Amino acid sequence: MSALTKPEQAGADPVTGGAAAYRAQLRNRQDAYLRRMMSLCAQAHPHARQVLRQQGLSPDDFRTVDDITKLPPMTKQDYMRDPERYRLDPNRAAELSLEERTLADIVYTSGSSGEPTPFYDTVHDRYARIDLMARATRIAGIGPDDTVMNLFPLSAVPHQGFLSATWGPMAVGAKLLSALTGRAYRGFPVHRRMDEAIDLIERERATVLWGITSYVRRVILRAETLGRDLSAARLVMAMGEPCPTAMRDDMRARLMAMGSPQVTVNNGYGMTELMGPATECRENGGAHLPAPEQFHFEIVDPDTYAPVPDGERGLLLFTHLNRRGTVLLRYVAGDAVARTHEQCPHCGRYEPRFLGSPFRVDGLTKVKGTLVNPALLLERLSGLLSRGVREYQVVITRESPDDPLSADVLRVRAACAESQRSRLGQEIAAAVVAETEIRPEIEFLPADGFGEIAGGYKFKRFVDERTD
Ligand SMILES: [Zn+2]
Repeated sequence: MSALTKPEQAGADPVTGGAAAYRAQLRNRQDAYLRRMMSLCAQAHPHARQVLRQQGLSPDDFRTVDDITKLPPMTKQDYMRDPERYRLDPNRAAELSLEERTLADIVYTSGSSGEPTPFYDTVHDRYARIDLMARATRIAGIGPDDTVMNLFPLSAVPHQGFLSATWGPMAVGAKLLSALTGRAYRGFPVHRRMDEAIDLIERERATVLWGITSYVRRVILRAETLGRDLSAARLVMAMGEPCPTAMRDDMRARLMAMGSPQVTVNNGYGMTELMGPATECRENGGAHLPAPEQFHFEIVDPDTYAPVPDGERGLLLFTHLNRRGTVLLRYVAGDAVARTHEQCPHCGRYEPRFLGSPFRVDGLTKVKGTLVNPALLLERLSGLLSRGVREYQVVITRESPDDPLSADVLRVRAACAESQRSRLGQEIAAAVVAETEIRPEIEFLPADGFGEIAGGYKFKRFVDERTD
């Protein structure tokens, strides 16, 4: 068996020897993993085999991670079209260990469109995931004294969040509670309602609430309405969706109003293909890559694919260096991110960090001829959460939905108390005009509107009905 199948510690919790030593150690580990990865791909991963053949390349052409640019980039659409082509063919890899070739988990990406796409983990990948999540959980400051409530739903197809909030707390020795919310399934009454989850949080004095950003906020709002005691909660792990500063402040204020002395809101960045979130050691301190030796990241100019300097935003590409099940090489995930290699000034760790809020590059859209960045618009609207808006959604549609030539409409749907509608209507319009120069239509919902957040997975806060 290759020495590389042993768990390696490059990139694990703080190393001695300073940033340069860390980087050299990380790089050596990545290079070694890449050589092993490419030789396995050439043997037992159908898509990679085809690409290598077409490009006239062999595994020997990949000595260091700099050689990765010899491969063409691939897109999320390529992967979604035929996920089986990116999966290990165990019949061609008989010499792999039992752990490396045995299927353990299937996680589905929750793309905004199309069918959920399977991402296959063998036992090797499951162990990698546990190792990654242990580190991500420690970076967020969760330990044996914590009681973590996993608020990811038990969903119709398995998603990563549930696994992250299960393995992470288990791996660091925290006490783990699972809400098991989600849509009821006939014959097996295993799902809990949100109010039952709140009972559990209160009774077990959960210190960490971990779930999809909009759902965790919904739980907090509901507990507040019910007058519950969530005073033990000290940390919100807001995942799967952005959580701008104003939304963090809103959740913090509500939890503190319910008795918490101090609350941190941690917003991770991740996706199924990254096996777990990059987490913050402190609010807005940058999202630490928990297991950087398992990936090679490129951050490039979206037109030329030339690398952009540290700290500048560019298109994110990454390559799996140490996976067995689904393996993606030079994968264009579709997000624009900025990264730094500087030692973290807050916690002293050396792993690279993502800075700022990543956003979808394909998310930019034209409304009434004006280019709109949904991430920035939603971020600005989040400022109204402290002004009385309980939840909000932006819908882009047409004046006559059946007439593709009719004018675009930008509609903000806002849930709030009836008495606040006239004031908030003006404030919402002002915020949208400031961000986009477009005058919105405003649709008010009752204060407890947006019931879909309670049962669904990710809340679609920006909906473009012209294309969806
Ligand atoms: Zn840090």
